[in-house]
Amino acid sequence: MKKIDGHVHTPFCPHGSSDALHEYAERAIRLGFTELTFTEHAPLPAGFTDPVPDKDSSLPLTRIEQYIHDVQEVKKEYSKDLMIKLGFEVDYIEGFEAATASFLDEYGEVMDDGILSVHFLLHRSSYYCLDYSEEGFAELSRLTGSPEKTYELYYKTVERSILADLGKYKPKRIGHITLAHKFKKLFPAPEWDFMTVSRLLELVRKAGYELDYNTAGLRKTNCRVPYPYEKAAVLAREMGIPLVYGSDAHIASDTGADYETYEEMVIK
Ligand SMILES: [Zn+2]
Ligand SMILES: [Zn+2]
Repeated sequence: MKKIDGHVHTPFCPHGSSDALHEYAERAIRLGFTELTFTEHAPLPAGFTDPVPDKDSSLPLTRIEQYIHDVQEVKKEYSKDLMIKLGFEVDYIEGFEAATASFLDEYGEVMDDGILSVHFLLHRSSYYCLDYSEEGFAELSRLTGSPEKTYELYYKTVERSILADLGKYKPKRIGHITLAHKFKKLFPAPEWDFMTVSRLLELVRKAGYELDYNTAGLRKTNCRVPYPYEKAAVLAREMGIPLVYGSDAHIASDTGADYETYEEMVIK
């Protein structure tokens, strides 16, 4: 039986760890995984200023060839024990669709897999990172008017990401679709949350996309649930949307983290 970790970061991530690719691969093999996708944050489009303080949200463009080379090497090295896929976690950024499509046109050919995620939100001609910190979330919510408005803006942007035309290499898996819940213990989700997520799932289903079943939320003190949360994951499963487990590991020891939760909620 297949056992996949479809969302793993690498030493090329400037906000991650220096753990080597082979450490992720070996941990995956030890845990009985048959498949792993390295999904480094794709370089942000030219002209987009990374809104986080250290401007370290993604792989720098200058390192992309090395990333591709190294993943291809480790892929060969472990081919007997683990199917390693080369991927990117591509940001959907409202207003940068053309630049993102041209990135995908250039690199889509070498990609075996990919995730499309929303981390950056456009509010009154400035961009904000949704999930960088609780202070950032609070600040954005002051600007939008309330945490509820921030959730709304996030889901609106996810909707655009699902509908966006990013060319034939557009990733088919939507990343952590309920990421707005990352600080939910501080900023509780609006009562309409599930209704909105259900509507997004309908769009995902229509487009024939998959969902990243992302366990990173379980590791966050102010969240403690996966993305998507149980009720939404169950609905997605009932709708026939494929849910692909993703640890979103930024350190090798998180590879495969909380896979049991995925088994209980999704596979059963
Ligand atoms: Zn990251
Ligand atoms: Zn992400």
